[in-house]
Amino acid sequence: MAKKVVILGAGYAGLVCALELNKLTTAQEVEIILVNKHEYHQLVTQLHEPAVGAKEEKDVTLSINSILGAKKVKFVKDVVVSIDNEAKEVKLENSKLSYDYLVVALGSETEYFGIPGLKEYSFTLKSVNQANRIREHIENCLKTYSQDKKDSKLTFVVGGAGFTGIELVGELADMLPVLAQKHNVPKDKIKLINVEAAPMILPGFDEELVSVAKKSLEARGVQFIIGTPVVQVEPGIVHLKSGDTIPTETMIWTGGVRGVPVVAEAGFETEPRGRAKVDEYMRAVGHEDVWIIGDSCFVLAPNGRPYPPTAQISTQMGENAAVNIYSTMKHMKKEKFDPVLLGAVASLGRKEAIGSIGNKMKAKGWLAYRVKDASKYRYLAKIGALLKS
Ligand SMILES: Cc1cc2nc3c(=O)[nH]c(=O)nc-3n(C[C@H](O)[C@H](O)[C@H](O)COP(=O)(O)OP(=O)(O)OC[C@H]3O[C@@H](n4cnc5c(N)ncnc54)[C@H](O)[C@@H]3O)c2cc1C
Repeated sequence: MAKKVVILGAGYAGLVCALELNKLTTAQEVEIILVNKHEYHQLVTQLHEPAVGAKEEKDVTLSINSILGAKKVKFVKDVVVSIDNEAKEVKLENSKLSYDYLVVALGSETEYFGIPGLKEYSFTLKSVNQANRIREHIENCLKTYSQDKKDSKLTFVVGGAGFTGIELVGELADMLPVLAQKHNVPKDKIKLINVEAAPMILPGFDEELVSVAKKSLEARGVQFIIGTPVVQVEPGIVHLKSGDTIPTETMIWTGGVRGVPVVAEAGFETEPRGRAKVDEYMRAVGHEDVWIIGDSCFVLAPNGRPYPPTAQISTQMGENAAVNIYSTMKHMKKEKFDPVLLGAVASLGRKEAIGSIGNKMKAKGWLAYRVKDASKYRYLAKIGALLKS
């Protein structure tokens, strides 16, 4: 009888896992069910573009049904509520699903570090809907400025200077002047501030490249406040540990991720930030029939530091889980998770990027931007969506 594999989440990890498992197996061997709360797959790595109006929603979403086409993966649009790993059952908002093998690939949530008011009074950038909300809010601030001349409407604060924060700051640096012109707002009144608790921006990137990124953004008017944690957010005001305050209507928080609650609630072992601990084959610790992949899990690299939560790592986890589910079904030797790190490139707006390619070559400027673009197209080709995007 065919084994039933239920995959929760059709992001980078879950979608790739479903497509790989589809390739490896026949319909007699396996029934694959992919669950996602939206009918579309989101290109999360591009979300900073619709957040400032540089791209539209349709540019960063792909219909899951059209990606799956005639493949033997059944798509269920529903929201995962809980997992009962003893009964081998997943509760969805509208139904229940039993499974032989389960893959949890539900991504992550925002970490607010208990900072008072941060959750209530900040925007986040983890979904297309959130990107749309940010874009509408920014437009609204600029559109209504002429009515009350409140300077806080023209001050935009991004909390966090990791990958997401810097890519967003870069995009804002390029687009805010364009939007200011559109709404007849004096460009020199606009303030774009990036606040970071750590002593430097873009942790993990080469120091020389970080300095290039900082100079490029500063030249476009970005003000960095580094080594200074946000300690409280109130409506219209951000408080910093230094005692300074920033009057602003726009605080966008990109400062951290934590695991989705459903994982810990199901009893899977997690690290302090709620991400699942997994073994070398990407299975939840102590569970030979459950794989937890992508941003929902926590894996230490050989250097003793955790792999960063990236699409690059998530897709490779998806592939690895598919291979190991197949190996388990066939009683074959499983494959240890050993990702190929292709480097990392962070965009700095519409024309520039910085990054390392293959962990050796450094790239900056327009060339690095093209490398970043190429990685998007490589991914689209992988999921068979190049012509559909
Ligand atoms: C603005 C931004 C820029 C980034 N840039 C890069 C980059 O350049 N390179 C890079 O490698 N990484 C980048 N990242 C990180 C990367 O996007 C994530 O690491 C990646 O999305 C994680 O993949 P995932 O499959 O684990 O989760 P996701 O891609 O978040 O997918 C999770 C899926 O689960 C679904 N889901 C969640 N909860 C439920 C539920 N309860 N029920 C049903 N479905 C649910 C979601 O709708 C989603 O489809 C960036 C992230 C952001 C936010």
